[in-house]
Formats: sequence, C-alpha cells, structure tokens
Amino acid sequence: KSDKVLQFIKDNDISHVFGNFEYEVDEIRRDIKVAHRIQDEKDVSFELLHDQTVLEPGLLRTGAGTPMKVFTPYHKAWLVETKKNPEHLDLVAPPEPNDKSSAEKLKKLFDSKLPSLPENKDFINDEERKRIRGLWPAGHSAGMDRLEHFLNEKVSSYATHRSEPARDPSSRLSAYISAGVISVREALAAAKKHNKNKHFDTGDSGIASWVREIVFREFYRQILVAIPHNAMNLPQNLKFDNVHWEEDEEGWEKWCQGKTGVPWVDAGMRQLNTEAYMHNRLRMNTASYLTANLLIDYRRGERYFATHLIDWDLSNNTQGWEPSYTVFNPIAQAE
Ligand SMILES: Cc1cc2nc3c(=O)[nH]c(=O)nc-3n(C[C@H](O)[C@H](O)[C@H](O)COP(=O)(O)OP(=O)(O)OC[C@H]3O[C@@H](n4cnc5c(N)ncnc54)[C@H](O)[C@@H]3O)c2cc1C
Repeated sequence: KSDKVLQFIKDNDISHVFGNFEYEVDEIRRDIKVAHRIQDEKDVSFELLHDQTVLEPGLLRTGAGTPMKVFTPYHKAWLVETKKNPEHLDLVAPPEPNDKSSAEKLKKLFDSKLPSLPENKDFINDEERKRIRGLWPAGHSAGMDRLEHFLNEKVSSYATHRSEPARDPSSRLSAYISAGVISVREALAAAKKHNKNKHFDTGDSGIASWVREIVFREFYRQILVAIPHNAMNLPQNLKFDNVHWEEDEEGWEKWCQGKTGVPWVDAGMRQLNTEAYMHNRLRMNTASYLTANLLIDYRRGERYFATHLIDWDLSNNTQGWEPSYTVFNPIAQAE
C-alpha cells in the first residue's frame, strides 16, 4: 500500500500529505511505514492529525502520569479540560474552494472509476437495499438533519428513557459518526448551542447524559491506545483468554437468528438483522447472553456484530464485547 501512496504522490506532483490518526495497531504500523517512505522523498511533507476525538487519546492522565483507564474520573477530567480549554471543541472552517482551473487540471482524478464492491458486501436484494437506505440515508446533510431532529425532539427525555429500546430514545447517529460523515465536534457544537451555550456539566440533563455517551467513545479510544493488544483480538483482561468456551452450534444459530426463546435477547438480534443497528441496552444484553448464558466465545459475537452493524467501530465494538463479571438477567432487564 505504501508503494501506491508513493506512486500517487509522484504522479500528481504532491508536496504535502495529510491524514488523520487511526489508533489500531495495524493502522499505526501502516502509517509509520508510509511516513518512513515519504521521509525519503525530497520536498514532500507528511502530517497526521488527531480528528477522531475531541481530546487526543493519552492526554488525560492520572496523578501518577499514566493514561486514565477508569471511566468516571476520565469523564470528570474530560468535562474540566474542555471547560478550561474550550478551543478543543472548535470546529475547523471548511477549506477554501479550489480555483476554477483545478477542475480541468485534476480531471483525471474525478474521472477515476469506483472499484466494484467485494463479494458478499452488496445488498442481497432490492428490498434490503431500499430498507437499509431508508433507515440510513447517506451524506453529511442527512446526518445533520438527524442531529437536529434528535436535539429538538428527543434529547430532553434522554436521561430518563435512554435505556428503553421500545421508545427508540437515542440519536441513531453512530453510523454517521463511525464513518466520519459527521464529526463529534459538530455533534457537540450543536448540543452546546441547544444547551444555551452552557458547558455540558450544567443545563439540560438530557444533554449532559448524551454527551457522557460521546465521552465513552473518547474513553474507549484512549483505552485502545493504552492497551494496544485490545485491537489484536485479545481481551483487555488477559485472564479471559484462558476461558474454555463451549462449542454450541445450535445455541449459536439460535442467537444469530433471534430464536433463543428469550424475548429481550431475540428482539435485539432481530433488530440487528433487520436494521443493521441495535439499541445499546440490547447490545449489552445480547452480548451477555451469548457469553455468560451460552458460554460461547465473545469473539464470535463481536465478529457477528462487526459484519452486521452499519455503525461498526472497532474501538466501541471490541470494548462493548470485552468479557466481564457483569451478567445481565434478560427478564429483569426487559422489565
Ligand atoms: C456489545 C456492544 C457493541 C457495540 N458496538 C458498537 C459499534 O460497533 N459501533 C458503535 O458506534 N457503537 C457500538 N456500541 C456502543 C453503543 O451501543 C452505540 O454507539 C449506540 O447504541 C449507537 O446508537 P446511537 O447513535 O443512537 O447512540 P446515542 O445514545 O445517541 O449516543 C450518541 C453517540 O455516542 C456514542 N456512544 C453511545 N453509546 C456508546 C457506548 N456505550 N460506547 C461508546 N460510544 C457510545 C456513539 O458514537 C453514539 O452515536 C456497542 C456497545 C455494545 C454494548
């Protein structure tokens, strides 16, 4: 891949290369390789920026100087840091438009053909195409409309109802955020405006509760950098790598299809299979059921989510699936 980047730089007489950090181990290794190759080129600069999160992973540290690894203190410190230095939340102005001659000069780039989809990555039929496109309309303005709708209609009751999937209480912005279609800074700027420009530690309790979830996303990226083996198919707590999981193909199939007979779990899996999305509370419960009740390797579930979720995000998914000693009772949870 670094050969291709280098060839592209040469073919197009490029002087500056910019990119955003991706924090997973393979991605960091890839970018280091590209950086080394570019370093050997005269007159080409290379810059990686932190854009996935408001606070760069590793910034918030404990008194002992190590990266914070516990959510509650991290959340508190995040609120203090963004209040003290509100420029963390600043939006970056869009780039100046290119001059008219660029369209002609760069024509061959715009003419390039889109690569075809890998096998098994296309919709299975027109009905599915229509359904998924209807649920997840593409593009930045669709994402911003969804954000506005959520802030106007739902956020005020988010703190009270966020764990009740039947109400569809959340923003459904995860697909837009994980694909980089809208940025967390855009989401937070709109939330702050809605909060009468107050910081997120005061004002509307729904806003505070929603922003706390966004901080969870930031925290998970901090953990991914602090515990790199977590991006390499290993649990954070390596003890869980010694678990002997069950080979239960029947249980697995029933779980995948939403036919376990446990309504709360089945509702979650059917939502996933129909919408390419699942409410957070159901994600927690279906994951707990697979690993703690069926005793099936959490990595199978993690992969099933990765191939079925429209909002798949390695950091959130891996850490959502991290094995733990918490076991959910799906009957009490449904109540
Ligand atoms: C087993 C499991 C797997 C998960 N897999 C993913 C995944 O692949 N991709 C993904 O984006 N989220 C994942 N999550 C986190 C969470 O379930 C989704 O982000 C959330 O349900 C998306 O719905 P929403 O946009 O309406 O969220 P809202 O409640 O409106 O929250 C706003 C945003 O905050 C972030 N967020 C919300 N909850 C969490 C959370 N618990 N952890 C981290 N970030 C959060 C998301 O970016 C979300 O869009 C997973 C959680 C679990 C328990």
